[in-house]
Amino acid sequence: MKLGKYSIGIGDRFGLQGIYQLRAVQQAAGGGVEVSPVWNKSQREHAIIGTTPEDTRREADEAVRDAGWRGAYFVDADHIGAGTVERFLSSSDFFTIDVAEFIDSPAPPAAMDAFVRAMTPYAGEIRVPGLDAPVSADAGVLRRVAARYLNAVQEAGRVYARIRAGRGREFVAEVSLDESATPQSAGELFFILGAIAGERIPLGTIAPKFTGAFLKGVDYVGDTEAFAREFEADLAVVEFARGTFGLPAGLKLSVHTGSDKFSLYPLMHRSLTRLGAGLHLKTAGTTWVEEVVSLAAAGEEGLRAANEIYARSFDRLDELCSPYRQVIAIDRGNLPLPADVAGWPAERLVRALRHEPGANGANTDLRQLIHVGYRIAAEMGPRFTSLVQRNAEAVGSNVADNLYRKHIMPLFIGS
Ligand SMILES: [Zn+2]
Repeated sequence: MKLGKYSIGIGDRFGLQGIYQLRAVQQAAGGGVEVSPVWNKSQREHAIIGTTPEDTRREADEAVRDAGWRGAYFVDADHIGAGTVERFLSSSDFFTIDVAEFIDSPAPPAAMDAFVRAMTPYAGEIRVPGLDAPVSADAGVLRRVAARYLNAVQEAGRVYARIRAGRGREFVAEVSLDESATPQSAGELFFILGAIAGERIPLGTIAPKFTGAFLKGVDYVGDTEAFAREFEADLAVVEFARGTFGLPAGLKLSVHTGSDKFSLYPLMHRSLTRLGAGLHLKTAGTTWVEEVVSLAAAGEEGLRAANEIYARSFDRLDELCSPYRQVIAIDRGNLPLPADVAGWPAERLVRALRHEPGANGANTDLRQLIHVGYRIAAEMGPRFTSLVQRNAEAVGSNVADNLYRKHIMPLFIGS
């Protein structure tokens, strides 16, 4: 199976939305745009929910069979490293190798020297067809990449070798740097790709860290035009580096924490179209939030459950937020008291929770808290999952609509 030019990461915390998520990509396929679905789940999520990588594989296979999906699909071992990769080997065919923690620790001096020597002929200004401004990838950028990233890329090479040895079949390899402390410039990305080629990783996707804030469940925070320039330069550099260093055909960018970036999708769509580039967009958590929004609108029992999830999340805010510190920014002062929310009519909670482009009444702080509050639903166990199952069609319609209308359409199809 080959990852398509366009692909979307669609996590499913509780494994109940597979066929509805597929409904969204089927709708796109019906309109002539193929988007490969990729179910991604990290060890962190598995641990919180109490699932295993085999559960994700089973759900994906069953959903594909039940929905009659005939396109490619994948199961992504999300943000794995040397310590977590083993348990994903038999069930995943997409591996997001996260080496952010190895950034900024130096590689052995001999390796650094060899890397700089090998890359020096490529140093200078990169002029890429279709890009207005040249990309700076001079000797200074090269030295910085050697010092900051070479060690991380070498670690990715070791993890990749472990996956290849442990798996008989082909898989997609992604290297993710999105959880690093600082963004990578397009010039840095060029030499990072040179280092990845040097490690002989047949890279499928690369996830850099972009400027601005990519927070869970809310729109992009930052200068959208600056992002658009950076994104386009990155797209062009990925293709240029692919040709220069002999990386695999189809290599593309991956955007993490990619849901809800409504102000960026039209700009990204413009660049993808202009350069004919592909993209992978991870939107994992958005499906879980749709489950809560849908329950809040589904009658008294659902509304009570949504209230309970909020109240318990409010009480345990620090604990729930701690694994996600880099990707959420909650203003506690803007969180309503659970006792007040309990008195709200359903429409008000739905409006506060739902992220609808251009709509009023949303509370992005409350939404972010719910985003990380899935641990509470996991603790509720069958009380939560049976509610979702009893409202399957109402919940699933929202899940499909959210993915298709708010994400796939503006990003991959253009509206
Ligand atoms: Zn990520």
